[in-house]
Amino acid sequence: MEKTLIILKPDAIQRRLLGKIISRFEEKGLQITGMKMMMIPDSLARAHYVSHKGKDFFEPLVSYTTSSPVVVIVVKGKNAIEIARKMMGVTFGSKAEPGTIRGDYAVSNRFNLIHGSDSPSSAEKEIAAFFTKEEIVDYQPIDLSWVYDIS
Ligand code: GDP
Ligand code: MG
Repeated sequence: MEKTLIILKPDAIQRRLLGKIISRFEEKGLQITGMKMMMIPDSLARAHYVSHKGKDFFEPLVSYTTSSPVVVIVVKGKNAIEIARKMMGVTFGSKAEPGTIRGDYAVSNRFNLIHGSDSPSSAEKEIAAFFTKEEIVDYQPIDLSWVYDIS
């Protein structure tokens, strides 16, 4: 089982899309093992997007990310990282395929509703940056044997 960090960015809350987006992960069969609402401090936003430091969209990206609350979620499942990225769609809302979260609800390059970790190593780092160990709740879902063909 893999864990990935999902951030429902400020526009997801302001546009009242939290329920719709969270439902997609639940309906897919992925498990929510941690979730909270927070304001991302400036330092955390800069660290989270450090790979984009120096690019022209970096400062506006930090401003956007820290401008209003976000919901951060730890999503768990087999191949959860890749599955979540596919469900999100490509970065720019205008380019994302219909059927994906960004494709269905976003048109902007920056205001694209959602972040998802892009690799196992970034997932591990990002989860540790946003959640304490105590905030991640490792319960056993009752439907696991129906979600996965474990016989
Ligand atoms: P992601 O992994 O699909 O979220 O995309 P990236 O890691 O490449 O970029 C991080 C975030 O920066 C994106 O989700 C967008 O919010 C924003 N972003 C990326 N590229 C651009 C760009 O060219 N212009 C603008 N305005 N925002 C961008
Ligand atoms: Mg990225």
